[in-house]
Amino acid sequence: MTDKSTGPVITRFAPSPTGLLHLGHGYSALRAHDLACATGGRFLLRFEDIDTGRVRAEYYDAIETDLRWLGLDWDGEPMRQSDRFDAYRDAFERLKAQELVYPCFCTRKEIAAEIAASASAPHGPDGPLYPRTCQALSDAEREERLVSEPHAWRIDMAKAVSTVGELHWRDADEGDIVATPEVHGDVVLARKDVPTSYHLAVVVDDAEQGVTDVVRGMDLFAATHVHRLLQQLLDLPVPHYHHHRLITDGAGKRLAKRDNARSLAAMRDAGVSAAAICAAFRSDPPDISEFEPID
Ligand code: GLU
Repeated sequence: MTDKSTGPVITRFAPSPTGLLHLGHGYSALRAHDLACATGGRFLLRFEDIDTGRVRAEYYDAIETDLRWLGLDWDGEPMRQSDRFDAYRDAFERLKAQELVYPCFCTRKEIAAEIAASASAPHGPDGPLYPRTCQALSDAEREERLVSEPHAWRIDMAKAVSTVGELHWRDADEGDIVATPEVHGDVVLARKDVPTSYHLAVVVDDAEQGVTDVVRGMDLFAATHVHRLLQQLLDLPVPHYHHHRLITDGAGKRLAKRDNARSLAAMRDAGVSAAAICAAFRSDPPDISEFEPID
């Protein structure tokens, strides 16, 4: 593990090509871009496209068009996570060799039923925790079901946490943070349909791209605890983190992908200037109130 506190700043913007970028994405990209540019560093683009069922081909170009329109040019070729399944498999195999993962055969429905039936289901930042049903399977049952049933792989969080000492990470606003990945429970590291998950792919790729500073929304603050653990288990560098405020609409509600009325493309088509948007993003606090949804 190395602490990347010296050398050029390398940031990335990591959108999923499952919809148009809205003002919130634009703000995140600009923050990452500006942090790198302020120090003569590099700003990278990574398409987080592991969710092959939801990805649409047209959104790769649309995202690039929006970023260029905002003047946020990136360095080098964008990375595509869909090209990197072998790298994720390698990382996963390392965790498997450490006996830190177990197969999970449960469907969402089964998990929901189990949680509903339990008197006190523990909750994490993203809702009820996985009740570890498949962790309790006998070796024989597990082996038998492995060959015949679709399965995801989950981290055995208690075991993983017990193999590492106290972990820390640094947030630009909050300072030194003690990692508490255990509050997330046994998260999925390899999904049933693809050989990775968001958590695993993001740490493998931040390391591969040499990212020194992860700039992303506050909504991913809690996920950083899991990322820090995975970095430790996989012996990957630990970037600094910058979790910025989320851009909200007039009612204080955060923008969503389906909120096409505030997509950058809709703004552009309606004649809004990119310079005005960037200026609004760069004001402190950022203020998008002048950009009404486009009908
Ligand atoms: N792909 C994630 C998103 O679009 C961002 C992940 C990250 O920055 O770590 O919200």
